[in-house]
Amino acid sequence: MKIAVLAGDGIGPEIVSQAVRVLEALASDGMKFEIESALLGGCAVDATGSPFPEATRKLVNEADAVLLGSVGGLQYDNLPREQRPEQGLLAIRKNLNLFANLRPVVLYSELKNASTMKPEVISSLDILIIRELTGDIYFGEPRGIKQHGGQRIGFNTMIYSEEEIRRIAHVAFQVASKRSQKLCSVDKMNVLECTQLWRDIVTEVAKDYPNVKLSHMLVDNAAMQLIRNPKQFDVMVTGNMFGDILSDEASMLTGSIGMLPSASLNDKGKGLYEPIHGSAPDIAGKDVANPLATILSTALMLRYTFNEEEAALRIESSVKKVLAQNYRTSDICQPGMKEVGTKEMCDAVLMNL
Ligand code: NAD
Repeated sequence: MKIAVLAGDGIGPEIVSQAVRVLEALASDGMKFEIESALLGGCAVDATGSPFPEATRKLVNEADAVLLGSVGGLQYDNLPREQRPEQGLLAIRKNLNLFANLRPVVLYSELKNASTMKPEVISSLDILIIRELTGDIYFGEPRGIKQHGGQRIGFNTMIYSEEEIRRIAHVAFQVASKRSQKLCSVDKMNVLECTQLWRDIVTEVAKDYPNVKLSHMLVDNAAMQLIRNPKQFDVMVTGNMFGDILSDEASMLTGSIGMLPSASLNDKGKGLYEPIHGSAPDIAGKDVANPLATILSTALMLRYTFNEEEAALRIESSVKKVLAQNYRTSDICQPGMKEVGTKEMCDAVLMNL
C-alpha cells in the first residue's frame, strides 16, 4: 500500500506525524505500507515557488492513497492567487480527479457535552455529507477582479455539467443504499439555474435507485435544519461550495472541527484523506491540536482505498476508547477530563490499538 504523505502547513506536520505513527503501529502488526513524503501548500511555495511542485505531482500520481494535513497561513494571503497554498489543494483534487468528498459527521457519545448544542438534539448523530469536489464556483471560468464602469468588480462562475452531477449523484445513491436508504440533495434551485440542473439530474438518477427515498432541500433551509434537528438527515449530497460550508457547520454538532475526517475519491477508488479543518495557525507548534480527525482519516483510507475494514474499525474503536477514558485535547476538554497534547492523545490511541 503506497501512501503519499503531505503534511502541509500550520498544525499539518504535528497531526500528520501522529497519524503516521498509527499506520506504523499497524505495520508492526503485519500490514505493509510504503510511506513517502512531499511538499504541498505554503511549505512548497517557500521551497520551490509552487504550491503543488512537480515532485509532489509525481508522487501522488504513483501512490495508491494520499494522506494530507492542511495547507495555508496568513503569511501567504497576499501572494498572487496561483501561488497561494490553497491552490495546491485545488490542483491536487483536480489532478487526481477526486470528485467525491465523503465527510462522516459522527458524534461519539462521550463528546455529547463538548458540543455547543443540546445533548438531546445531537445524541447518536451519524450523518454522511457527500460534497462534489472538482466543479462549481471554485473552478468555474471566467473568474477574476476587473475594472468596470470606473470601479472594480469581482466575479466567479457557478457551473456544473450534467455528467458531473450524474456521477456524484450515483455515488450518493450507492452510499445511501448501504445506510438508511435516505438521501437529501441540497441546492438553491429557486435562485440559481445551475442548481436547477442539479435538482433535475439528481431526480433523474433517483429512478435507478428505487430503494432510496430522495428528498430535496434549499441550502439556506438545510443550514437551519442542521442546527434545529440534525438527526432528520442520514446522507446529504450537495455541490462544492454548499458542501464546504454545510460540513463545517455540521462539524460543530460533534464538538470540534478537530474530530472530523474526510475522504476524497475518484472513480478508481484512489483517495485523498484529510481532516476537514484547516492549518489552524493560531495553535500551530504548540502541541495542542487535536490529531483525531487525521487519525480517523487513516481509518477511512484503510476502508475506502485498501478495503481493510477490520483495520479501519480498530482505529475507530481505539479513538472511542480513548474518549471513554476521558483523554481530551483542549478543543474538546471539559472539567474533570484529562487534558492532553497532540502527541499524548496519539499515545493513548496507540495504547488502545
Ligand atoms: P481552521 O480550520 O484552520 O481553524 C478554525 C478554528 O478551529 C481555529 O480556531 C483553530 O484553532 C481550530 N482548529 C482547527 N483544527 C483544529 C484541531 N485539529 N484541533 C483543535 N482546534 C482546531 O480554519 P481557518 O482559521 O479559517 O483557516 C486557517 C488556514 O487554513 C487558512 O489559510 C485557510 O485557507 C486554511 N484552510 C485549509 C484547509 C485545508 O487544508 N483543507 C481547509 C480550511 C482552511
